[in-house]
Amino acid sequence: MGKKPTVGIFGFTGCAGCQLNILNIEDHLLDILGLVDITTWAMAKAENSPGPWDIAFVEGSIAKESEIERVKKIRENSGILVAIGACATHGGLPAMRNQRNVEEMKVTVYGDKTGHLDVLDQIMPVSHYVKVDAELPGCPMDKNEFVAAVQAIAVGKTPKIPNYSVCYECKIRENACLLKEGKFCMGPVTVAGCDALCPSRGATCEGCRGPVAQVNWGAEFKILKDLGATPEEIKRRFLKYCSSTATMPAFQELSF
Ligand code: SF4
Ligand code: SF4
Repeated sequence: MGKKPTVGIFGFTGCAGCQLNILNIEDHLLDILGLVDITTWAMAKAENSPGPWDIAFVEGSIAKESEIERVKKIRENSGILVAIGACATHGGLPAMRNQRNVEEMKVTVYGDKTGHLDVLDQIMPVSHYVKVDAELPGCPMDKNEFVAAVQAIAVGKTPKIPNYSVCYECKIRENACLLKEGKFCMGPVTVAGCDALCPSRGATCEGCRGPVAQVNWGAEFKILKDLGATPEEIKRRFLKYCSSTATMPAFQELSF
């Protein structure tokens, strides 16, 4: 067997839950370590290589000036770069602050001691700053999807995510539709791949995997409006995980 591809795993602004999910793949960890050599992972290793890497997995959104430079360096030193988790793919929960005035927020949190902060006005996904070869969405990223992605990349393939909505997986599981119960489910506009995790447990889809390709925001808007959702509720649903991506202009075009 030839030399195993080297891997770096990196965290940016987020909760580090996707990296924790990688730590939690006990069942597949030995399989993964048989395929790749993880040379850099600050969360899990005491000694870390400065690169280069064949594959970089990048978690978290880009929220600071210093993170722009850091992600560019990782990109320059990596053969393939994969964004993992909603923060890295769509801005995620941190990007909710794109709706607020960052200068006011700085003062609210730090008072007159804001000089050391290098936060950007807008929090963006990784693809806003560097070329991304593949994205594994979700909050957190699905660990089975991560394992499948490593297996695919190790044999020279690009990881695939579904091009259909959570509703498809929900119907396959024969769940009762929550929209019919008057609940505000984002399944129709959210990309599948989680096996309809939330609706299968009676909870509405919150849209953590981001918009499905060719999403019809207008149709979802009408469904939620007909169910009695207020503009604030619809806005919160549409922008919760995706305040920095295509969802934002689509939302602004809607007329209440
Ligand atoms: S419960 Fe949600 S995900 Fe399931 S079919 Fe209804 S709208 Fe779609
Ligand atoms: S059902 Fe929706 S919110 Fe739940 S894991 Fe899947 S995409 Fe995320």
